Amino acid sequence: MKYAVTPAPMYTLAIAGLSECFPVNRIFCVGRNYAAHAREMGKDPDRDPPFFFMKPACATVQAGASLVTIPYPPMTANFHFEIELVVAIGKGGADIPVGQALEHVYGYAVGLDMTRRDLQLDARDKGRPWEFGKSFSHSAPIGPVHRAEQVGHPKSAAISLTVNGEGRQSSDIEMMIWSVPECIACLSQYEMLEPGDIIMTGTPEGVNRVNRGDVMRGAVDGLGEIAVSVAA
Ligand code: MN
Repeated sequence: MKYAVTPAPMYTLAIAGLSECFPVNRIFCVGRNYAAHAREMGKDPDRDPPFFFMKPACATVQAGASLVTIPYPPMTANFHFEIELVVAIGKGGADIPVGQALEHVYGYAVGLDMTRRDLQLDARDKGRPWEFGKSFSHSAPIGPVHRAEQVGHPKSAAISLTVNGEGRQSSDIEMMIWSVPECIACLSQYEMLEPGDIIMTGTPEGVNRVNRGDVMRGAVDGLGEIAVSVAA
């Protein structure tokens, strides 16, 4: 195949314990999946079906225990962190039943849904798409994928984030309003999932801004830690 212009690169994630890497296809994100975070965003938590937004594959940044730096993005003065459990899809499918959803999971990772909060809220309040608040390059630093065959399917695990060593987010993934199988089942009704798809499962309370030079450390018990700094 010859391309008229240089094709975009394939974005990938490391896999813990394997030399192969995980090819990132699409990144789906769940909105308001922890009640306390929904409240801090000025919304009532509810059991309405989960809703989703997306990030491009080029949002992917390989993160891990050693510090990686992301740029401070343009057009924002309120750049926020959201620590999240990340699900890596290994087997595609549509209309996946909740009871079979975990068969489609390749593994899990720790990730950050970095957000231009000022753009997101301005769009939200004007009834416009969140797009530019959420969907931009380098906005999804994600740690190595831990294979489900090695770590199982965590239902409860501490999830936390510090900024410059100070605690900012601390919760447990068992606080998610919609579980991982429920998110997969719902999403697969709208779109046929494909291998390589990523689902970011929402953030607990405590989101806030980072400034240039800040260092974030996020963790989910059993999935390691990621260290991400914002370029000075
Ligand atoms: Mn999020």
